[in-house]
Amino acid sequence: MSKGQGVAQALPADVAALADVPADKGEVHVVHLYPREMSIYGDLGNTRCLAARLRWHGYRPVVHDHHPGAAWPERADILLGGGGQDSGQARVTDDLARHADRLRELAADGLPMLMICGMYQLFGEAFITVEGQRLPGLGILDVTTRGNATRMIGPVVLDTDFGSVVGYENHSGSTVLGAGQQPFGRVRHGQGNNGTDGHEGARTGNVVGSYLHGPVLPANPALADGLLEIAARRATGGWDPAEVDDTVAERAHAAQVRRLLGS
Ligand code: GLN
Repeated sequence: MSKGQGVAQALPADVAALADVPADKGEVHVVHLYPREMSIYGDLGNTRCLAARLRWHGYRPVVHDHHPGAAWPERADILLGGGGQDSGQARVTDDLARHADRLRELAADGLPMLMICGMYQLFGEAFITVEGQRLPGLGILDVTTRGNATRMIGPVVLDTDFGSVVGYENHSGSTVLGAGQQPFGRVRHGQGNNGTDGHEGARTGNVVGSYLHGPVLPANPALADGLLEIAARRATGGWDPAEVDDTVAERAHAAQVRRLLGS
């Protein structure tokens, strides 16, 4: 793989090991934006989770890594982006600007997207770092973020349209929603966008921005499958999920809720 090229990734061994599971319901293309610059605190696990769940449901995942300067992948049915340092965010802003019109069109067209932390901030109007550097965002989500001297760190429980969602936040950016911007969730434990208004993340159509690492998808199968359903319907014209054993994920989810909320 040469630097700067968009590549269809070889599937990780744990997903490739599912090769004997029939995958005849069609291909679903997962695009991971900037896995080198923007994928911290385990956010790569979101891509692996979607690829694994697609196999379990009988679909064939094709994962594309998109790097700065690369051509846009030939096909995208769902987009993922992760967290990063302020410096990582600065390294991807030119490429994001290059693809801004395309990304805004895809968002308006209903393509599902999950953008975590640093990428959430860049899907907003702007991120102003603690040093005062203004990184322009795509404006797909009507949110504005300012860096602070203190960080918001710790485990989180949310109520969302996808049910209860658990994760872990670690950000200095404090995010404020524009008037009329829907949050992703209501904070039941943790800080969320800014520690004061009880909102976490933002959602417009099928675009979700959130501060939740973890990675967030493996412990929240309803969120993962909610996004996959939209992607699979776009890709194949239908959604035909298989019976998946989510006992371990459900235990992990319930343990975090119990520990933080006591219920
Ligand atoms: N640099 C951003 C902040 O601290 C994003 C952090 C992250 O992506 N985890 O607010």
